[in-house]
Amino acid sequence: MEKILYFTFTEVDGSLGRPALEALAAAVELAAATGGELSAGIVGKDAGAAAGLIAGCGAKKFFAVSGTDFHPSRYGTDAAAATAVCRAAEATVIITPATSRACRVMAGVAHRMGGKVDTHVGAVKSAGGKVSVTRWYYRQRMEAELSRAARPWILVVDPGNREPYAGAPGNAAVSEVAVTLPDTAKRTSVTGTVSPTTGEQTIKPEARLLFVAGAGWTKKQADGAVHAPEAAGLIMDFLKKSQASLGGSKSVVEASTEGESPLPFMTHLNQVGQTGSTPRHPKGLSACCHGEEPHVVGWRFINARRAINLDANCGWARGKADVVYIADAFKVMAKVNELLGG
Ligand SMILES: Cc1cc2nc3c(=O)[nH]c(=O)nc-3n(C[C@H](O)[C@H](O)[C@H](O)COP(=O)(O)OP(=O)(O)OC[C@H]3O[C@@H](n4cnc5c(N)ncnc54)[C@H](O)[C@@H]3O)c2cc1C
Repeated sequence: MEKILYFTFTEVDGSLGRPALEALAAAVELAAATGGELSAGIVGKDAGAAAGLIAGCGAKKFFAVSGTDFHPSRYGTDAAAATAVCRAAEATVIITPATSRACRVMAGVAHRMGGKVDTHVGAVKSAGGKVSVTRWYYRQRMEAELSRAARPWILVVDPGNREPYAGAPGNAAVSEVAVTLPDTAKRTSVTGTVSPTTGEQTIKPEARLLFVAGAGWTKKQADGAVHAPEAAGLIMDFLKKSQASLGGSKSVVEASTEGESPLPFMTHLNQVGQTGSTPRHPKGLSACCHGEEPHVVGWRFINARRAINLDANCGWARGKADVVYIADAFKVMAKVNELLGG
């Protein structure tokens, strides 16, 4: 029988984010499918309180590592705490969300445990009691299903694949796990975090909509002039009103960083595509982007796609979008912002 451990770190505010709750849903499903025993482990400043948020998940045991040492994301303390929880649970399969904090340490935890780890896990399945996972390869072009005999087996589950766990909070009987920190664990002091974006946070993995801006926003328009400040205003206004996540094409990202009519909030982190990211959102809207294959390959996980382009012969119109509006994106987005109101 598999001993399945759901493991996560809390958010800075002590809550459990959507990726953590999605991974919990995967763990609950796997425990039901395999008839395995489910336990939960949480690390954070007040991990015991966070355990209460998922008290009804069906876990037989709740393990926690709490305290100010475990508040910031820091390799030494995070790896030690995660290893201690995994050992306490005697887990054979460990399911954890692919947050930046967990991604940083779980390979190290697997090494300390003498186990194996797989990252970017999509589905977690079970047939005849045998656990398998799906994972995308070759920049999301090929999907493989794989299983391992080695235990413990850590599965770092990508967000955006399933509905999050939504059980009511309650009281969880929590076992606090003692962690012996080596001298080196706290040699890094976390004094704060600096966002790589210059202004507002524009990348929102949990947004229902991805808005992709292309280089057209920074190019000469029908009047022969570039309207970059107007473009920047329209895009930011839309992002604020819609709470969409912002993506960019390679061309617009590079135009921004090389000082050519920049959209000041656009960075390389926003780039979607073959050499950029492959975000997961239910819907996507592209404006002033041509829809070339190296860009659209990054839309693999966007379910409903729409595009605005002046060019009726653009890539989107050739079967890459569900709906293409042949129109001036400046006018369309100004109208959309007006309709979205204050
Ligand atoms: C190896 C390799 C890897 C690559 N990786 C990536 C990648 O990861 N991501 C990526 O994006 N690209 C990538 N590219 C580049 C990609 O092929 C395209 O060059 C790029 O996506 C073009 O960006 P764009 O569509 O924003 O710009 P453009 O091709 O310049 O298109 C601008 C579009 O804006 C439209 N437009 C202009 N004004 C308006 C207006 N007022 N209203 C509506 N539409 C308007 C134009 O009609 C045009 O279609 C890669 C290329 C290679 C060779």
